[in-house]
Amino acid sequence: MQSAEGPGDGQVAAGRRVSTAGTQTDSVSGQTPRLSKVNLFTLFSLLMELFPPVEQQKKSQVKKTGLVVVKNIKMVGLHCSSADLHAGQIALIKHGSRLKNCDLYFSRKPCSTCLKMIVNAGVNRISYWPADPEISLQNEASNPTSTEDAKLDAKAVERLKSNSRARVCLLLQPLVCDMVQFVEETTYKCDFIQKIAKTLSGCNTDFYTECRQERIKEYESLFLISNEEMHKQILMTMGLENLCENPYFSNLRQNMKDLILLLATVAASVPTFGHFGFYCNGSQQTNDMHHQSLPQEIARHCMIQARLLAYRTEDHKTGVGAVIWAEGKSSCDGTGAMYFVGCGYNAFPVGSEYADFPHMDDKQKDREIRKFRYIIHAEQNALTFRCQEIKPEERSMIFVTKCPCDECVPLIKGAGIKQIYVGDVDVGKKKADISYMKFRELEGVSKFTWQLSPSHIDVHEPTARENGIQKTQSLDEQQHQSKKLCLGNH
Ligand SMILES: [Zn+2]
Ligand SMILES: [Zn+2]
Repeated sequence: MQSAEGPGDGQVAAGRRVSTAGTQTDSVSGQTPRLSKVNLFTLFSLLMELFPPVEQQKKSQVKKTGLVVVKNIKMVGLHCSSADLHAGQIALIKHGSRLKNCDLYFSRKPCSTCLKMIVNAGVNRISYWPADPEISLQNEASNPTSTEDAKLDAKAVERLKSNSRARVCLLLQPLVCDMVQFVEETTYKCDFIQKIAKTLSGCNTDFYTECRQERIKEYESLFLISNEEMHKQILMTMGLENLCENPYFSNLRQNMKDLILLLATVAASVPTFGHFGFYCNGSQQTNDMHHQSLPQEIARHCMIQARLLAYRTEDHKTGVGAVIWAEGKSSCDGTGAMYFVGCGYNAFPVGSEYADFPHMDDKQKDREIRKFRYIIHAEQNALTFRCQEIKPEERSMIFVTKCPCDECVPLIKGAGIKQIYVGDVDVGKKKADISYMKFRELEGVSKFTWQLSPSHIDVHEPTARENGIQKTQSLDEQQHQSKKLCLGNH
C-alpha cells in the first residue's frame, strides 16, 4: 500500500518545489499547512534519537539512533538504540518477522549488522536521515583504523542495498513554504507556553524565543553537519554521489535545515523551564505504582511527540495530537521498559474526501452544518489505530496536547489507561460545540497537568519580603536561577 502523500519513487525527493508548494496552500483557502506523513515519520525518528536515556550510553563509534517502524502507513513501533543494541537490532527483537513489508525510518543510516537482518526480514523500504551514519564517518579526533572500518562498513551497506529487494532511500520532502512560520505561531499559542506566559504576566519577556533558540542550537549540532565539505564526503561514502552536485546538494541541506527548525520549534513548545512540569493536584497522589508519575523529561518528550502529531490535523482551527505509551517488563530498548501503543490526531473519518463533511466551526450560526459531529478526536484515533493492546496489569499513559473533552474522557478511562498527561487550559469550560466538564471529576485515572511543581510552591511560598526582592530582580536572573534549580533536580 502506498501513501498518497509518499513520493512516487523511492530514491530522493529532496528537490525543493517551492512554487508548487505555494500554489498548493493558496488554492485551498483557509486550510492550514500540514506535515506530510513521510516528514512526520522522519521527524519522529529524529525525536526517538533524543529519547531520554535510561542508562549511560557507552562512548563508542556507534551513534545513538532513533527508529520508526511503519506498517500500512501507520506507526507501529518507536525505538532507539540502547547501550548494548543498535536500533535495527531492537526492531528485530521486538517485531521479528512482522517487519515484513514495513517501512523503517532511521535517524541515521544503519550499519551493515543491522541492515542485513532487516533486509532478511523482508522490509519494504528503509529511509534514513542523510547526516552522519550510525557508524560515524565524521573523522574528528577519531583514529585512522576506526575511520577505515567505518568506510568498509559503509561499502558493505552499499552492497547489501544493491542486492536486496528493499529500497534504501531518502524520503525527505520539502515543507510547504509557510509551514515553519505556522508552527512558530501555533506553538506560541499552545497550552504549555500560554500557562508559563501567564505566571510571568506583567513581565515582557521572550522566554519562548530563548527556549527555541536553545533547542535549535542543540538539534543543529546533532542532526546537521556544519561543514559542507565534510557533509559531501559523508554523502559520497554512503553512495549518494548524485546529491553532491548543486543545486541538489544545497536543496538537500536547506530541506534538512527547515525540518530541524520545525522540530526544534515544536520541542520548544513543551520547554524545560523553571519548575514547570506535569504534576497531579494534591489529593489524588497515591502510592500505587500505576499512578506514579513518569520522570519529567520522559513525560515532556512524549508530549512533544503529541505536539508534532497535531501538525497532521485536518481541523484547520485546532490541531490536537495524542500518543499512548505503556510500561512492560522487557527493557532492551533504549526507551527502557516503555513501549509505544498508538497515536493519533484530529481528522475526518478515514477514507472521507475533503468535501464529504462540513468544515464550519462554532462561529457559523447554523449548528447543522458545523464540523464537530464529524471530526474524530486525536484520542479516539489513537485508541482506534493502536498497535498493541492496553493491558490492565501495566502502567499505561496517554499524552494529549489539549484537555480531553466529555466525549473522550469516558473512552480513556474505559480503555483502561492509567494516566493522562495533558494541557489543561480548557478544563471546566463549555465551548460552543465541545464541553470539557468531565475531566475534573474523572476518577481512577491519574491526571498530570502542566503546572508549577506543587512542592516548589509549598517550599517557596514567597513572603511579602521575598516578593519584594524578587520584583527588583530582573526576570532573566529569575529564569536563570530557576533553570539552575531545575537542572539540579535531574
Ligand atoms: Zn547497526
Ligand atoms: Zn475529545
